[in-house]
Amino acid sequence: MIQAAHVHQPDLLDELGAQLHPAIIAIDGPAASGKSTVGFRLANALDYLFFDTGVMYRAVTWAALARGVAIDDETAIGALAHAITIDILPPQPNQHDGRHTTVLVDGEDVTWLIRAPEVDRNVSAVSAYPEVRTAMTAKQRAIAQRYGRGDAEKRGIVMVGRDIGTVVMPDAPLKLYVDAAPEERARRRHQELAKQGKHIPYAEVLADMVRRDRIDSERPLSPLRRAADAIRIDNSTQTAEDTLAQAIDALRTAVDASLVQQDRN
Ligand code: C5P
Repeated sequence: MIQAAHVHQPDLLDELGAQLHPAIIAIDGPAASGKSTVGFRLANALDYLFFDTGVMYRAVTWAALARGVAIDDETAIGALAHAITIDILPPQPNQHDGRHTTVLVDGEDVTWLIRAPEVDRNVSAVSAYPEVRTAMTAKQRAIAQRYGRGDAEKRGIVMVGRDIGTVVMPDAPLKLYVDAAPEERARRRHQELAKQGKHIPYAEVLADMVRRDRIDSERPLSPLRRAADAIRIDNSTQTAEDTLAQAIDALRTAVDASLVQQDRN
């Protein structure tokens, strides 16, 4: 049952955030499912780092397009993924443009450039290449382990993506799989793009998204799927607040289970 009251209990959240070990929350789901919205809010409520791993695949795709590397040249794209430096930083206090994180590629701020429709169209092909996945997964694991152990400036991490619960961090003590109907997801993405001044017909947004989800789910390596132990949240018809409340309920259950386990050991 959804208990939205939790959302407004900072003490409870503070306690839960301190009790999760390792302090890693994995959130997966298809495009525009609302996973970043719930992940970002959860991270802020718990004082964890919010890390949207999709930005890394977008950064590689953007770099390939910007440098004229052909998207179907798997070898060159794999080399590019290893060669570029991708930095993920919390937004600076003077940056009020709606960003959740700042993304740098070799020092250049590409936070908004990686949201271009051309990146949207090509990112699934790029992220299916094994070399790209090897390079990104290693970077993501290193970040997750450092934050999960409490060795970083935040006391934990919320990681959002497609394969976090299944491949990157299969031992995360809390896994969520956030989903919504494709038409609803396309409606949200369409609105988001319009806000950025990009007026693309709804039917085109829907078709692109369905195509991207198909590639993400059907690729042989790290396909998009729910981990067997991930809690599924369908937010097709519920508010972001309800989704957050459901996530907090799941967190409380995960913390209780880990405390029982620690007592036994
Ligand atoms: O989440 P977002 O739509 O920004 O992700 C962009 C793309 O990056 C996805 O469509 C998917 O192809 C890829 N991705 C991935 N594994 C992740 C996160 C994103 O393959 N963990």
